[in-house]
Amino acid sequence: MSKQIRPYLVYADDEGNIFEDRSLWAVGRSGWEALPVPDDQWIELPSGGNLYQLPGRRAIGIDVHTGEMRLCLKGWAVAAFLPPAHTGFYLAAYETLPNAPVLPLFCYTATGWQNGKFYVPAIRIEQDIRQECKGFNQHKVRLGVREKLNAYPHNRLVKHLAENCALTYYCPAARNYFLNRWECPVPTSPACNAQCVGCISWQPEEVSIPSTQDRLTFKPTAEEIAEYTIPHLEQAPFPIVSFGQGCEGEPLLMWRTIRDAIRLIRQHTHRGSININTNGSKPEAVKALCEAGLNSIRVSMNSARKNIYEAYYRPRHYTFADIVKSLKIVKEYGGWTSINYLVFPGITDQKAEYEALCQLIEETQLDMIQWRNLNIDPDWYLKELGVDHTGDSLGIKQLMETLHNQYPQLKYGYYNPPIERIRGDFEKDFARAMPIH
Ligand code: SF4
Repeated sequence: MSKQIRPYLVYADDEGNIFEDRSLWAVGRSGWEALPVPDDQWIELPSGGNLYQLPGRRAIGIDVHTGEMRLCLKGWAVAAFLPPAHTGFYLAAYETLPNAPVLPLFCYTATGWQNGKFYVPAIRIEQDIRQECKGFNQHKVRLGVREKLNAYPHNRLVKHLAENCALTYYCPAARNYFLNRWECPVPTSPACNAQCVGCISWQPEEVSIPSTQDRLTFKPTAEEIAEYTIPHLEQAPFPIVSFGQGCEGEPLLMWRTIRDAIRLIRQHTHRGSININTNGSKPEAVKALCEAGLNSIRVSMNSARKNIYEAYYRPRHYTFADIVKSLKIVKEYGGWTSINYLVFPGITDQKAEYEALCQLIEETQLDMIQWRNLNIDPDWYLKELGVDHTGDSLGIKQLMETLHNQYPQLKYGYYNPPIERIRGDFEKDFARAMPIH
């Protein structure tokens, strides 16, 4: 029986100090609607979560006496940024004042306060611990960086992963590589054939918010890729090498190099999984990668509906049908298929989205949904989609449960599974088997 929680609204002053307002209950947002959050959907803000003061925005709450929804005028609205492995059920509810700045590329989940703790409407959707904040010792990461830079002095990719990803962005995937464990990132592409509204690696000059990391500026060779990934696959626990990272464009634009790298890798080792995170835009390239030895694919999408997808991804020279075809091809080659489902309450749980998602799951025989939070200013996103009214949404929790009952074979998570889970007992208490050192 989940705990019944009803937290008070929180607000922030200009300095970012956060206070509770005991005259208002916290609520959530779905699309353009402010809604009460069911008491059993709140969990404590997980460790590694952050709290943001939302400039130019007044929080909405429910008056504890009248039950009416009203604004909190004591300060600015507050939202939570959920740590990896968690999916949010509701956004922060607020009224945006004129001239309020666009919010940077983070997720803005509802939050409240009760009995000395912050709460969020969310779920831990993944037991894998690979990106737990407490699992990273930065001193050991630096030692690993020194060791690898000495081992591969001429490798531009290892230098990029060291200086930019592990030591500047604190990227969990890159740090895991330097700690010789789990999923190792392989960025390859300086360019992309999509123009996502909320692209995390490139934002046009005229947009007022920055991308969260800079895009790779060179094209690695297959030899550079193989040089550091082969030892990782041979030695790391539960090893995965993953093409397609946040610090690059679209990896399928570099498919020939990736194909040659996979061939080189598989000439030396058959251990572990070779995965690609991609927008799925080039099915023929995906076919070539499967023939070379690709084990799994994760296709990113904000929606299973063509119009909603195209309004956000703004694809160049590819169509929604191409990404469906890419998923089917990997399945035909016996590979594992996931979608990186960018969740936005009020859009993701619309009835029409549920129907489109069911069609995608059935048509592609999809293996897994990785339920990720879409990192974007909610007002900006809805305006870019051309959505001026919402409502009639199922609720994200309800959507997850309905799909689970309808497709019991469909797996849920947040990360690409290692081959041990793909070919073994997927639900096995994997986390306990992952040594943290
Ligand atoms: S597919 Fe990735 S790299 Fe390309 S625009 Fe979208 S977020 Fe950016």
